[in-house]
Amino acid sequence: MSDAGFPTFPAGFSFGVATAAYQIEGAVGADGRGESVWDTFCRRPGAIRDGHTGDVADDHYHRWPEDVALMAALGIDTYRFSLAWPRIQPAGSGAVNAAGLDFYDRLVDSLVANGITPMPTLFHWDLPQPLEDAGGWLSRDTAYRFAEFAAIAATRLADRVPLWITLNEPFVVTAFGYALGVHAPGRTLLLGALPTAHHQLLGHGLATAALRAAGVRQVAIANNYSPAWAASDRPADVAAAAAYDILHNRLYTDPLLLVRYPDLSAFGVGAAGLECVRDGDLAIVSAPIDALGVNYYAPTRLSAPTDSALPFSMQPIPGYPLTAFGNPVVPAGLTELLTTLARRYGSRLPPVYVTENGCSFADEPDAAGQIADADRIDYLDGHIRAVADAMAAGVDVRGYLVWSLLDNFEWAEGYHQRFGLVHVDYDTLRRTPKESFGWYRDAIAAQRARAPRT
Ligand code: BGC
Repeated sequence: MSDAGFPTFPAGFSFGVATAAYQIEGAVGADGRGESVWDTFCRRPGAIRDGHTGDVADDHYHRWPEDVALMAALGIDTYRFSLAWPRIQPAGSGAVNAAGLDFYDRLVDSLVANGITPMPTLFHWDLPQPLEDAGGWLSRDTAYRFAEFAAIAATRLADRVPLWITLNEPFVVTAFGYALGVHAPGRTLLLGALPTAHHQLLGHGLATAALRAAGVRQVAIANNYSPAWAASDRPADVAAAAAYDILHNRLYTDPLLLVRYPDLSAFGVGAAGLECVRDGDLAIVSAPIDALGVNYYAPTRLSAPTDSALPFSMQPIPGYPLTAFGNPVVPAGLTELLTTLARRYGSRLPPVYVTENGCSFADEPDAAGQIADADRIDYLDGHIRAVADAMAAGVDVRGYLVWSLLDNFEWAEGYHQRFGLVHVDYDTLRRTPKESFGWYRDAIAAQRARAPRT
């Protein structure tokens, strides 16, 4: 595959891949790791498709040298991964498990030795179960425990890790984990889940301070964003899209960058705002960050509500190809999202990294053992161009990371959705680069030839 016509990015622009601990590591009982909410949730009958669990996943915990070698062959600048809190602090507070820290220490050393910048995320959903037993993100105390964990991790790794991400997609934790119950911890509190939004953001702010105190230079958060499209021009549909936009796109970003929560009256929250917010909290939440992580998969189309639980209902988006997950492939949605963020937050918007973007398809090897995933190449090509379009429109984007390096445990979907540039055979754990791997490698190499790394 050639990268003919692939846009040229500035010399310092980072290309990379992203993963998360519970989705790839496996080895859930190894070396003193504690239990996470995902271990518990996976054992709940019916919670995960076909009863899959993350017990083995890609066994990255044991096979990480092979995975780093794959990344080196890919030629990436940056690897975003997450630190499993239950490996490092098995009870979520108190005692530190040295073996857990050692694992990430070795991984970071190996990345650096291969010229790859490590970009760790401190929380990609695997909350230690003892913290959930004490209320999880419904409890304010979890925010303080998270800051403690951040300090422990940074004290060990900050010397080799420039940019740290606090939380991954707090929206998904609130919505899927605590409101709808389709992710761990499986609570179905609907709007009663809203305090988890604030407690996660408070945790982000407290962790930001802890990271800086431990010598970290750059701090970011990775949010999930989805352009909210009204199904029609009818005022009721436009209002539904605006309500969804608040819940998905603004609730986790306005407090960070504008030092206030958006108007939540469409969700029955009164003028005084979220009751769990205390004086001084917003100053902590809005401590300056150095970058904003943007995870983008697809837009969402909304119409007026069909029942009273929420002020919107979701509609399919016709007219686009679909991924195996059923997501419409809309590269222009990424340009729209990035330019909207720039318009909405103006000079308060820090530099942006696209910290996740990718697609699942039913990739299987052919008779010759090749995995031809032209649909993924199209997806990535379109979205990387969409980033270039946003940059041409003035948005300061510094990097683009593909979700994901490897096929992995896709949460409630188990192993059914394959997002990897590398195929994993779940019987043998054999890794086989797909055609998209070679395409991305060549695209990165061509970039380097045109705009050498600074
Ligand atoms: C999450 C990943 C997930 C991906 C694909 C993102 O919401 O951060 O963990 O695998 O989407 O669904």
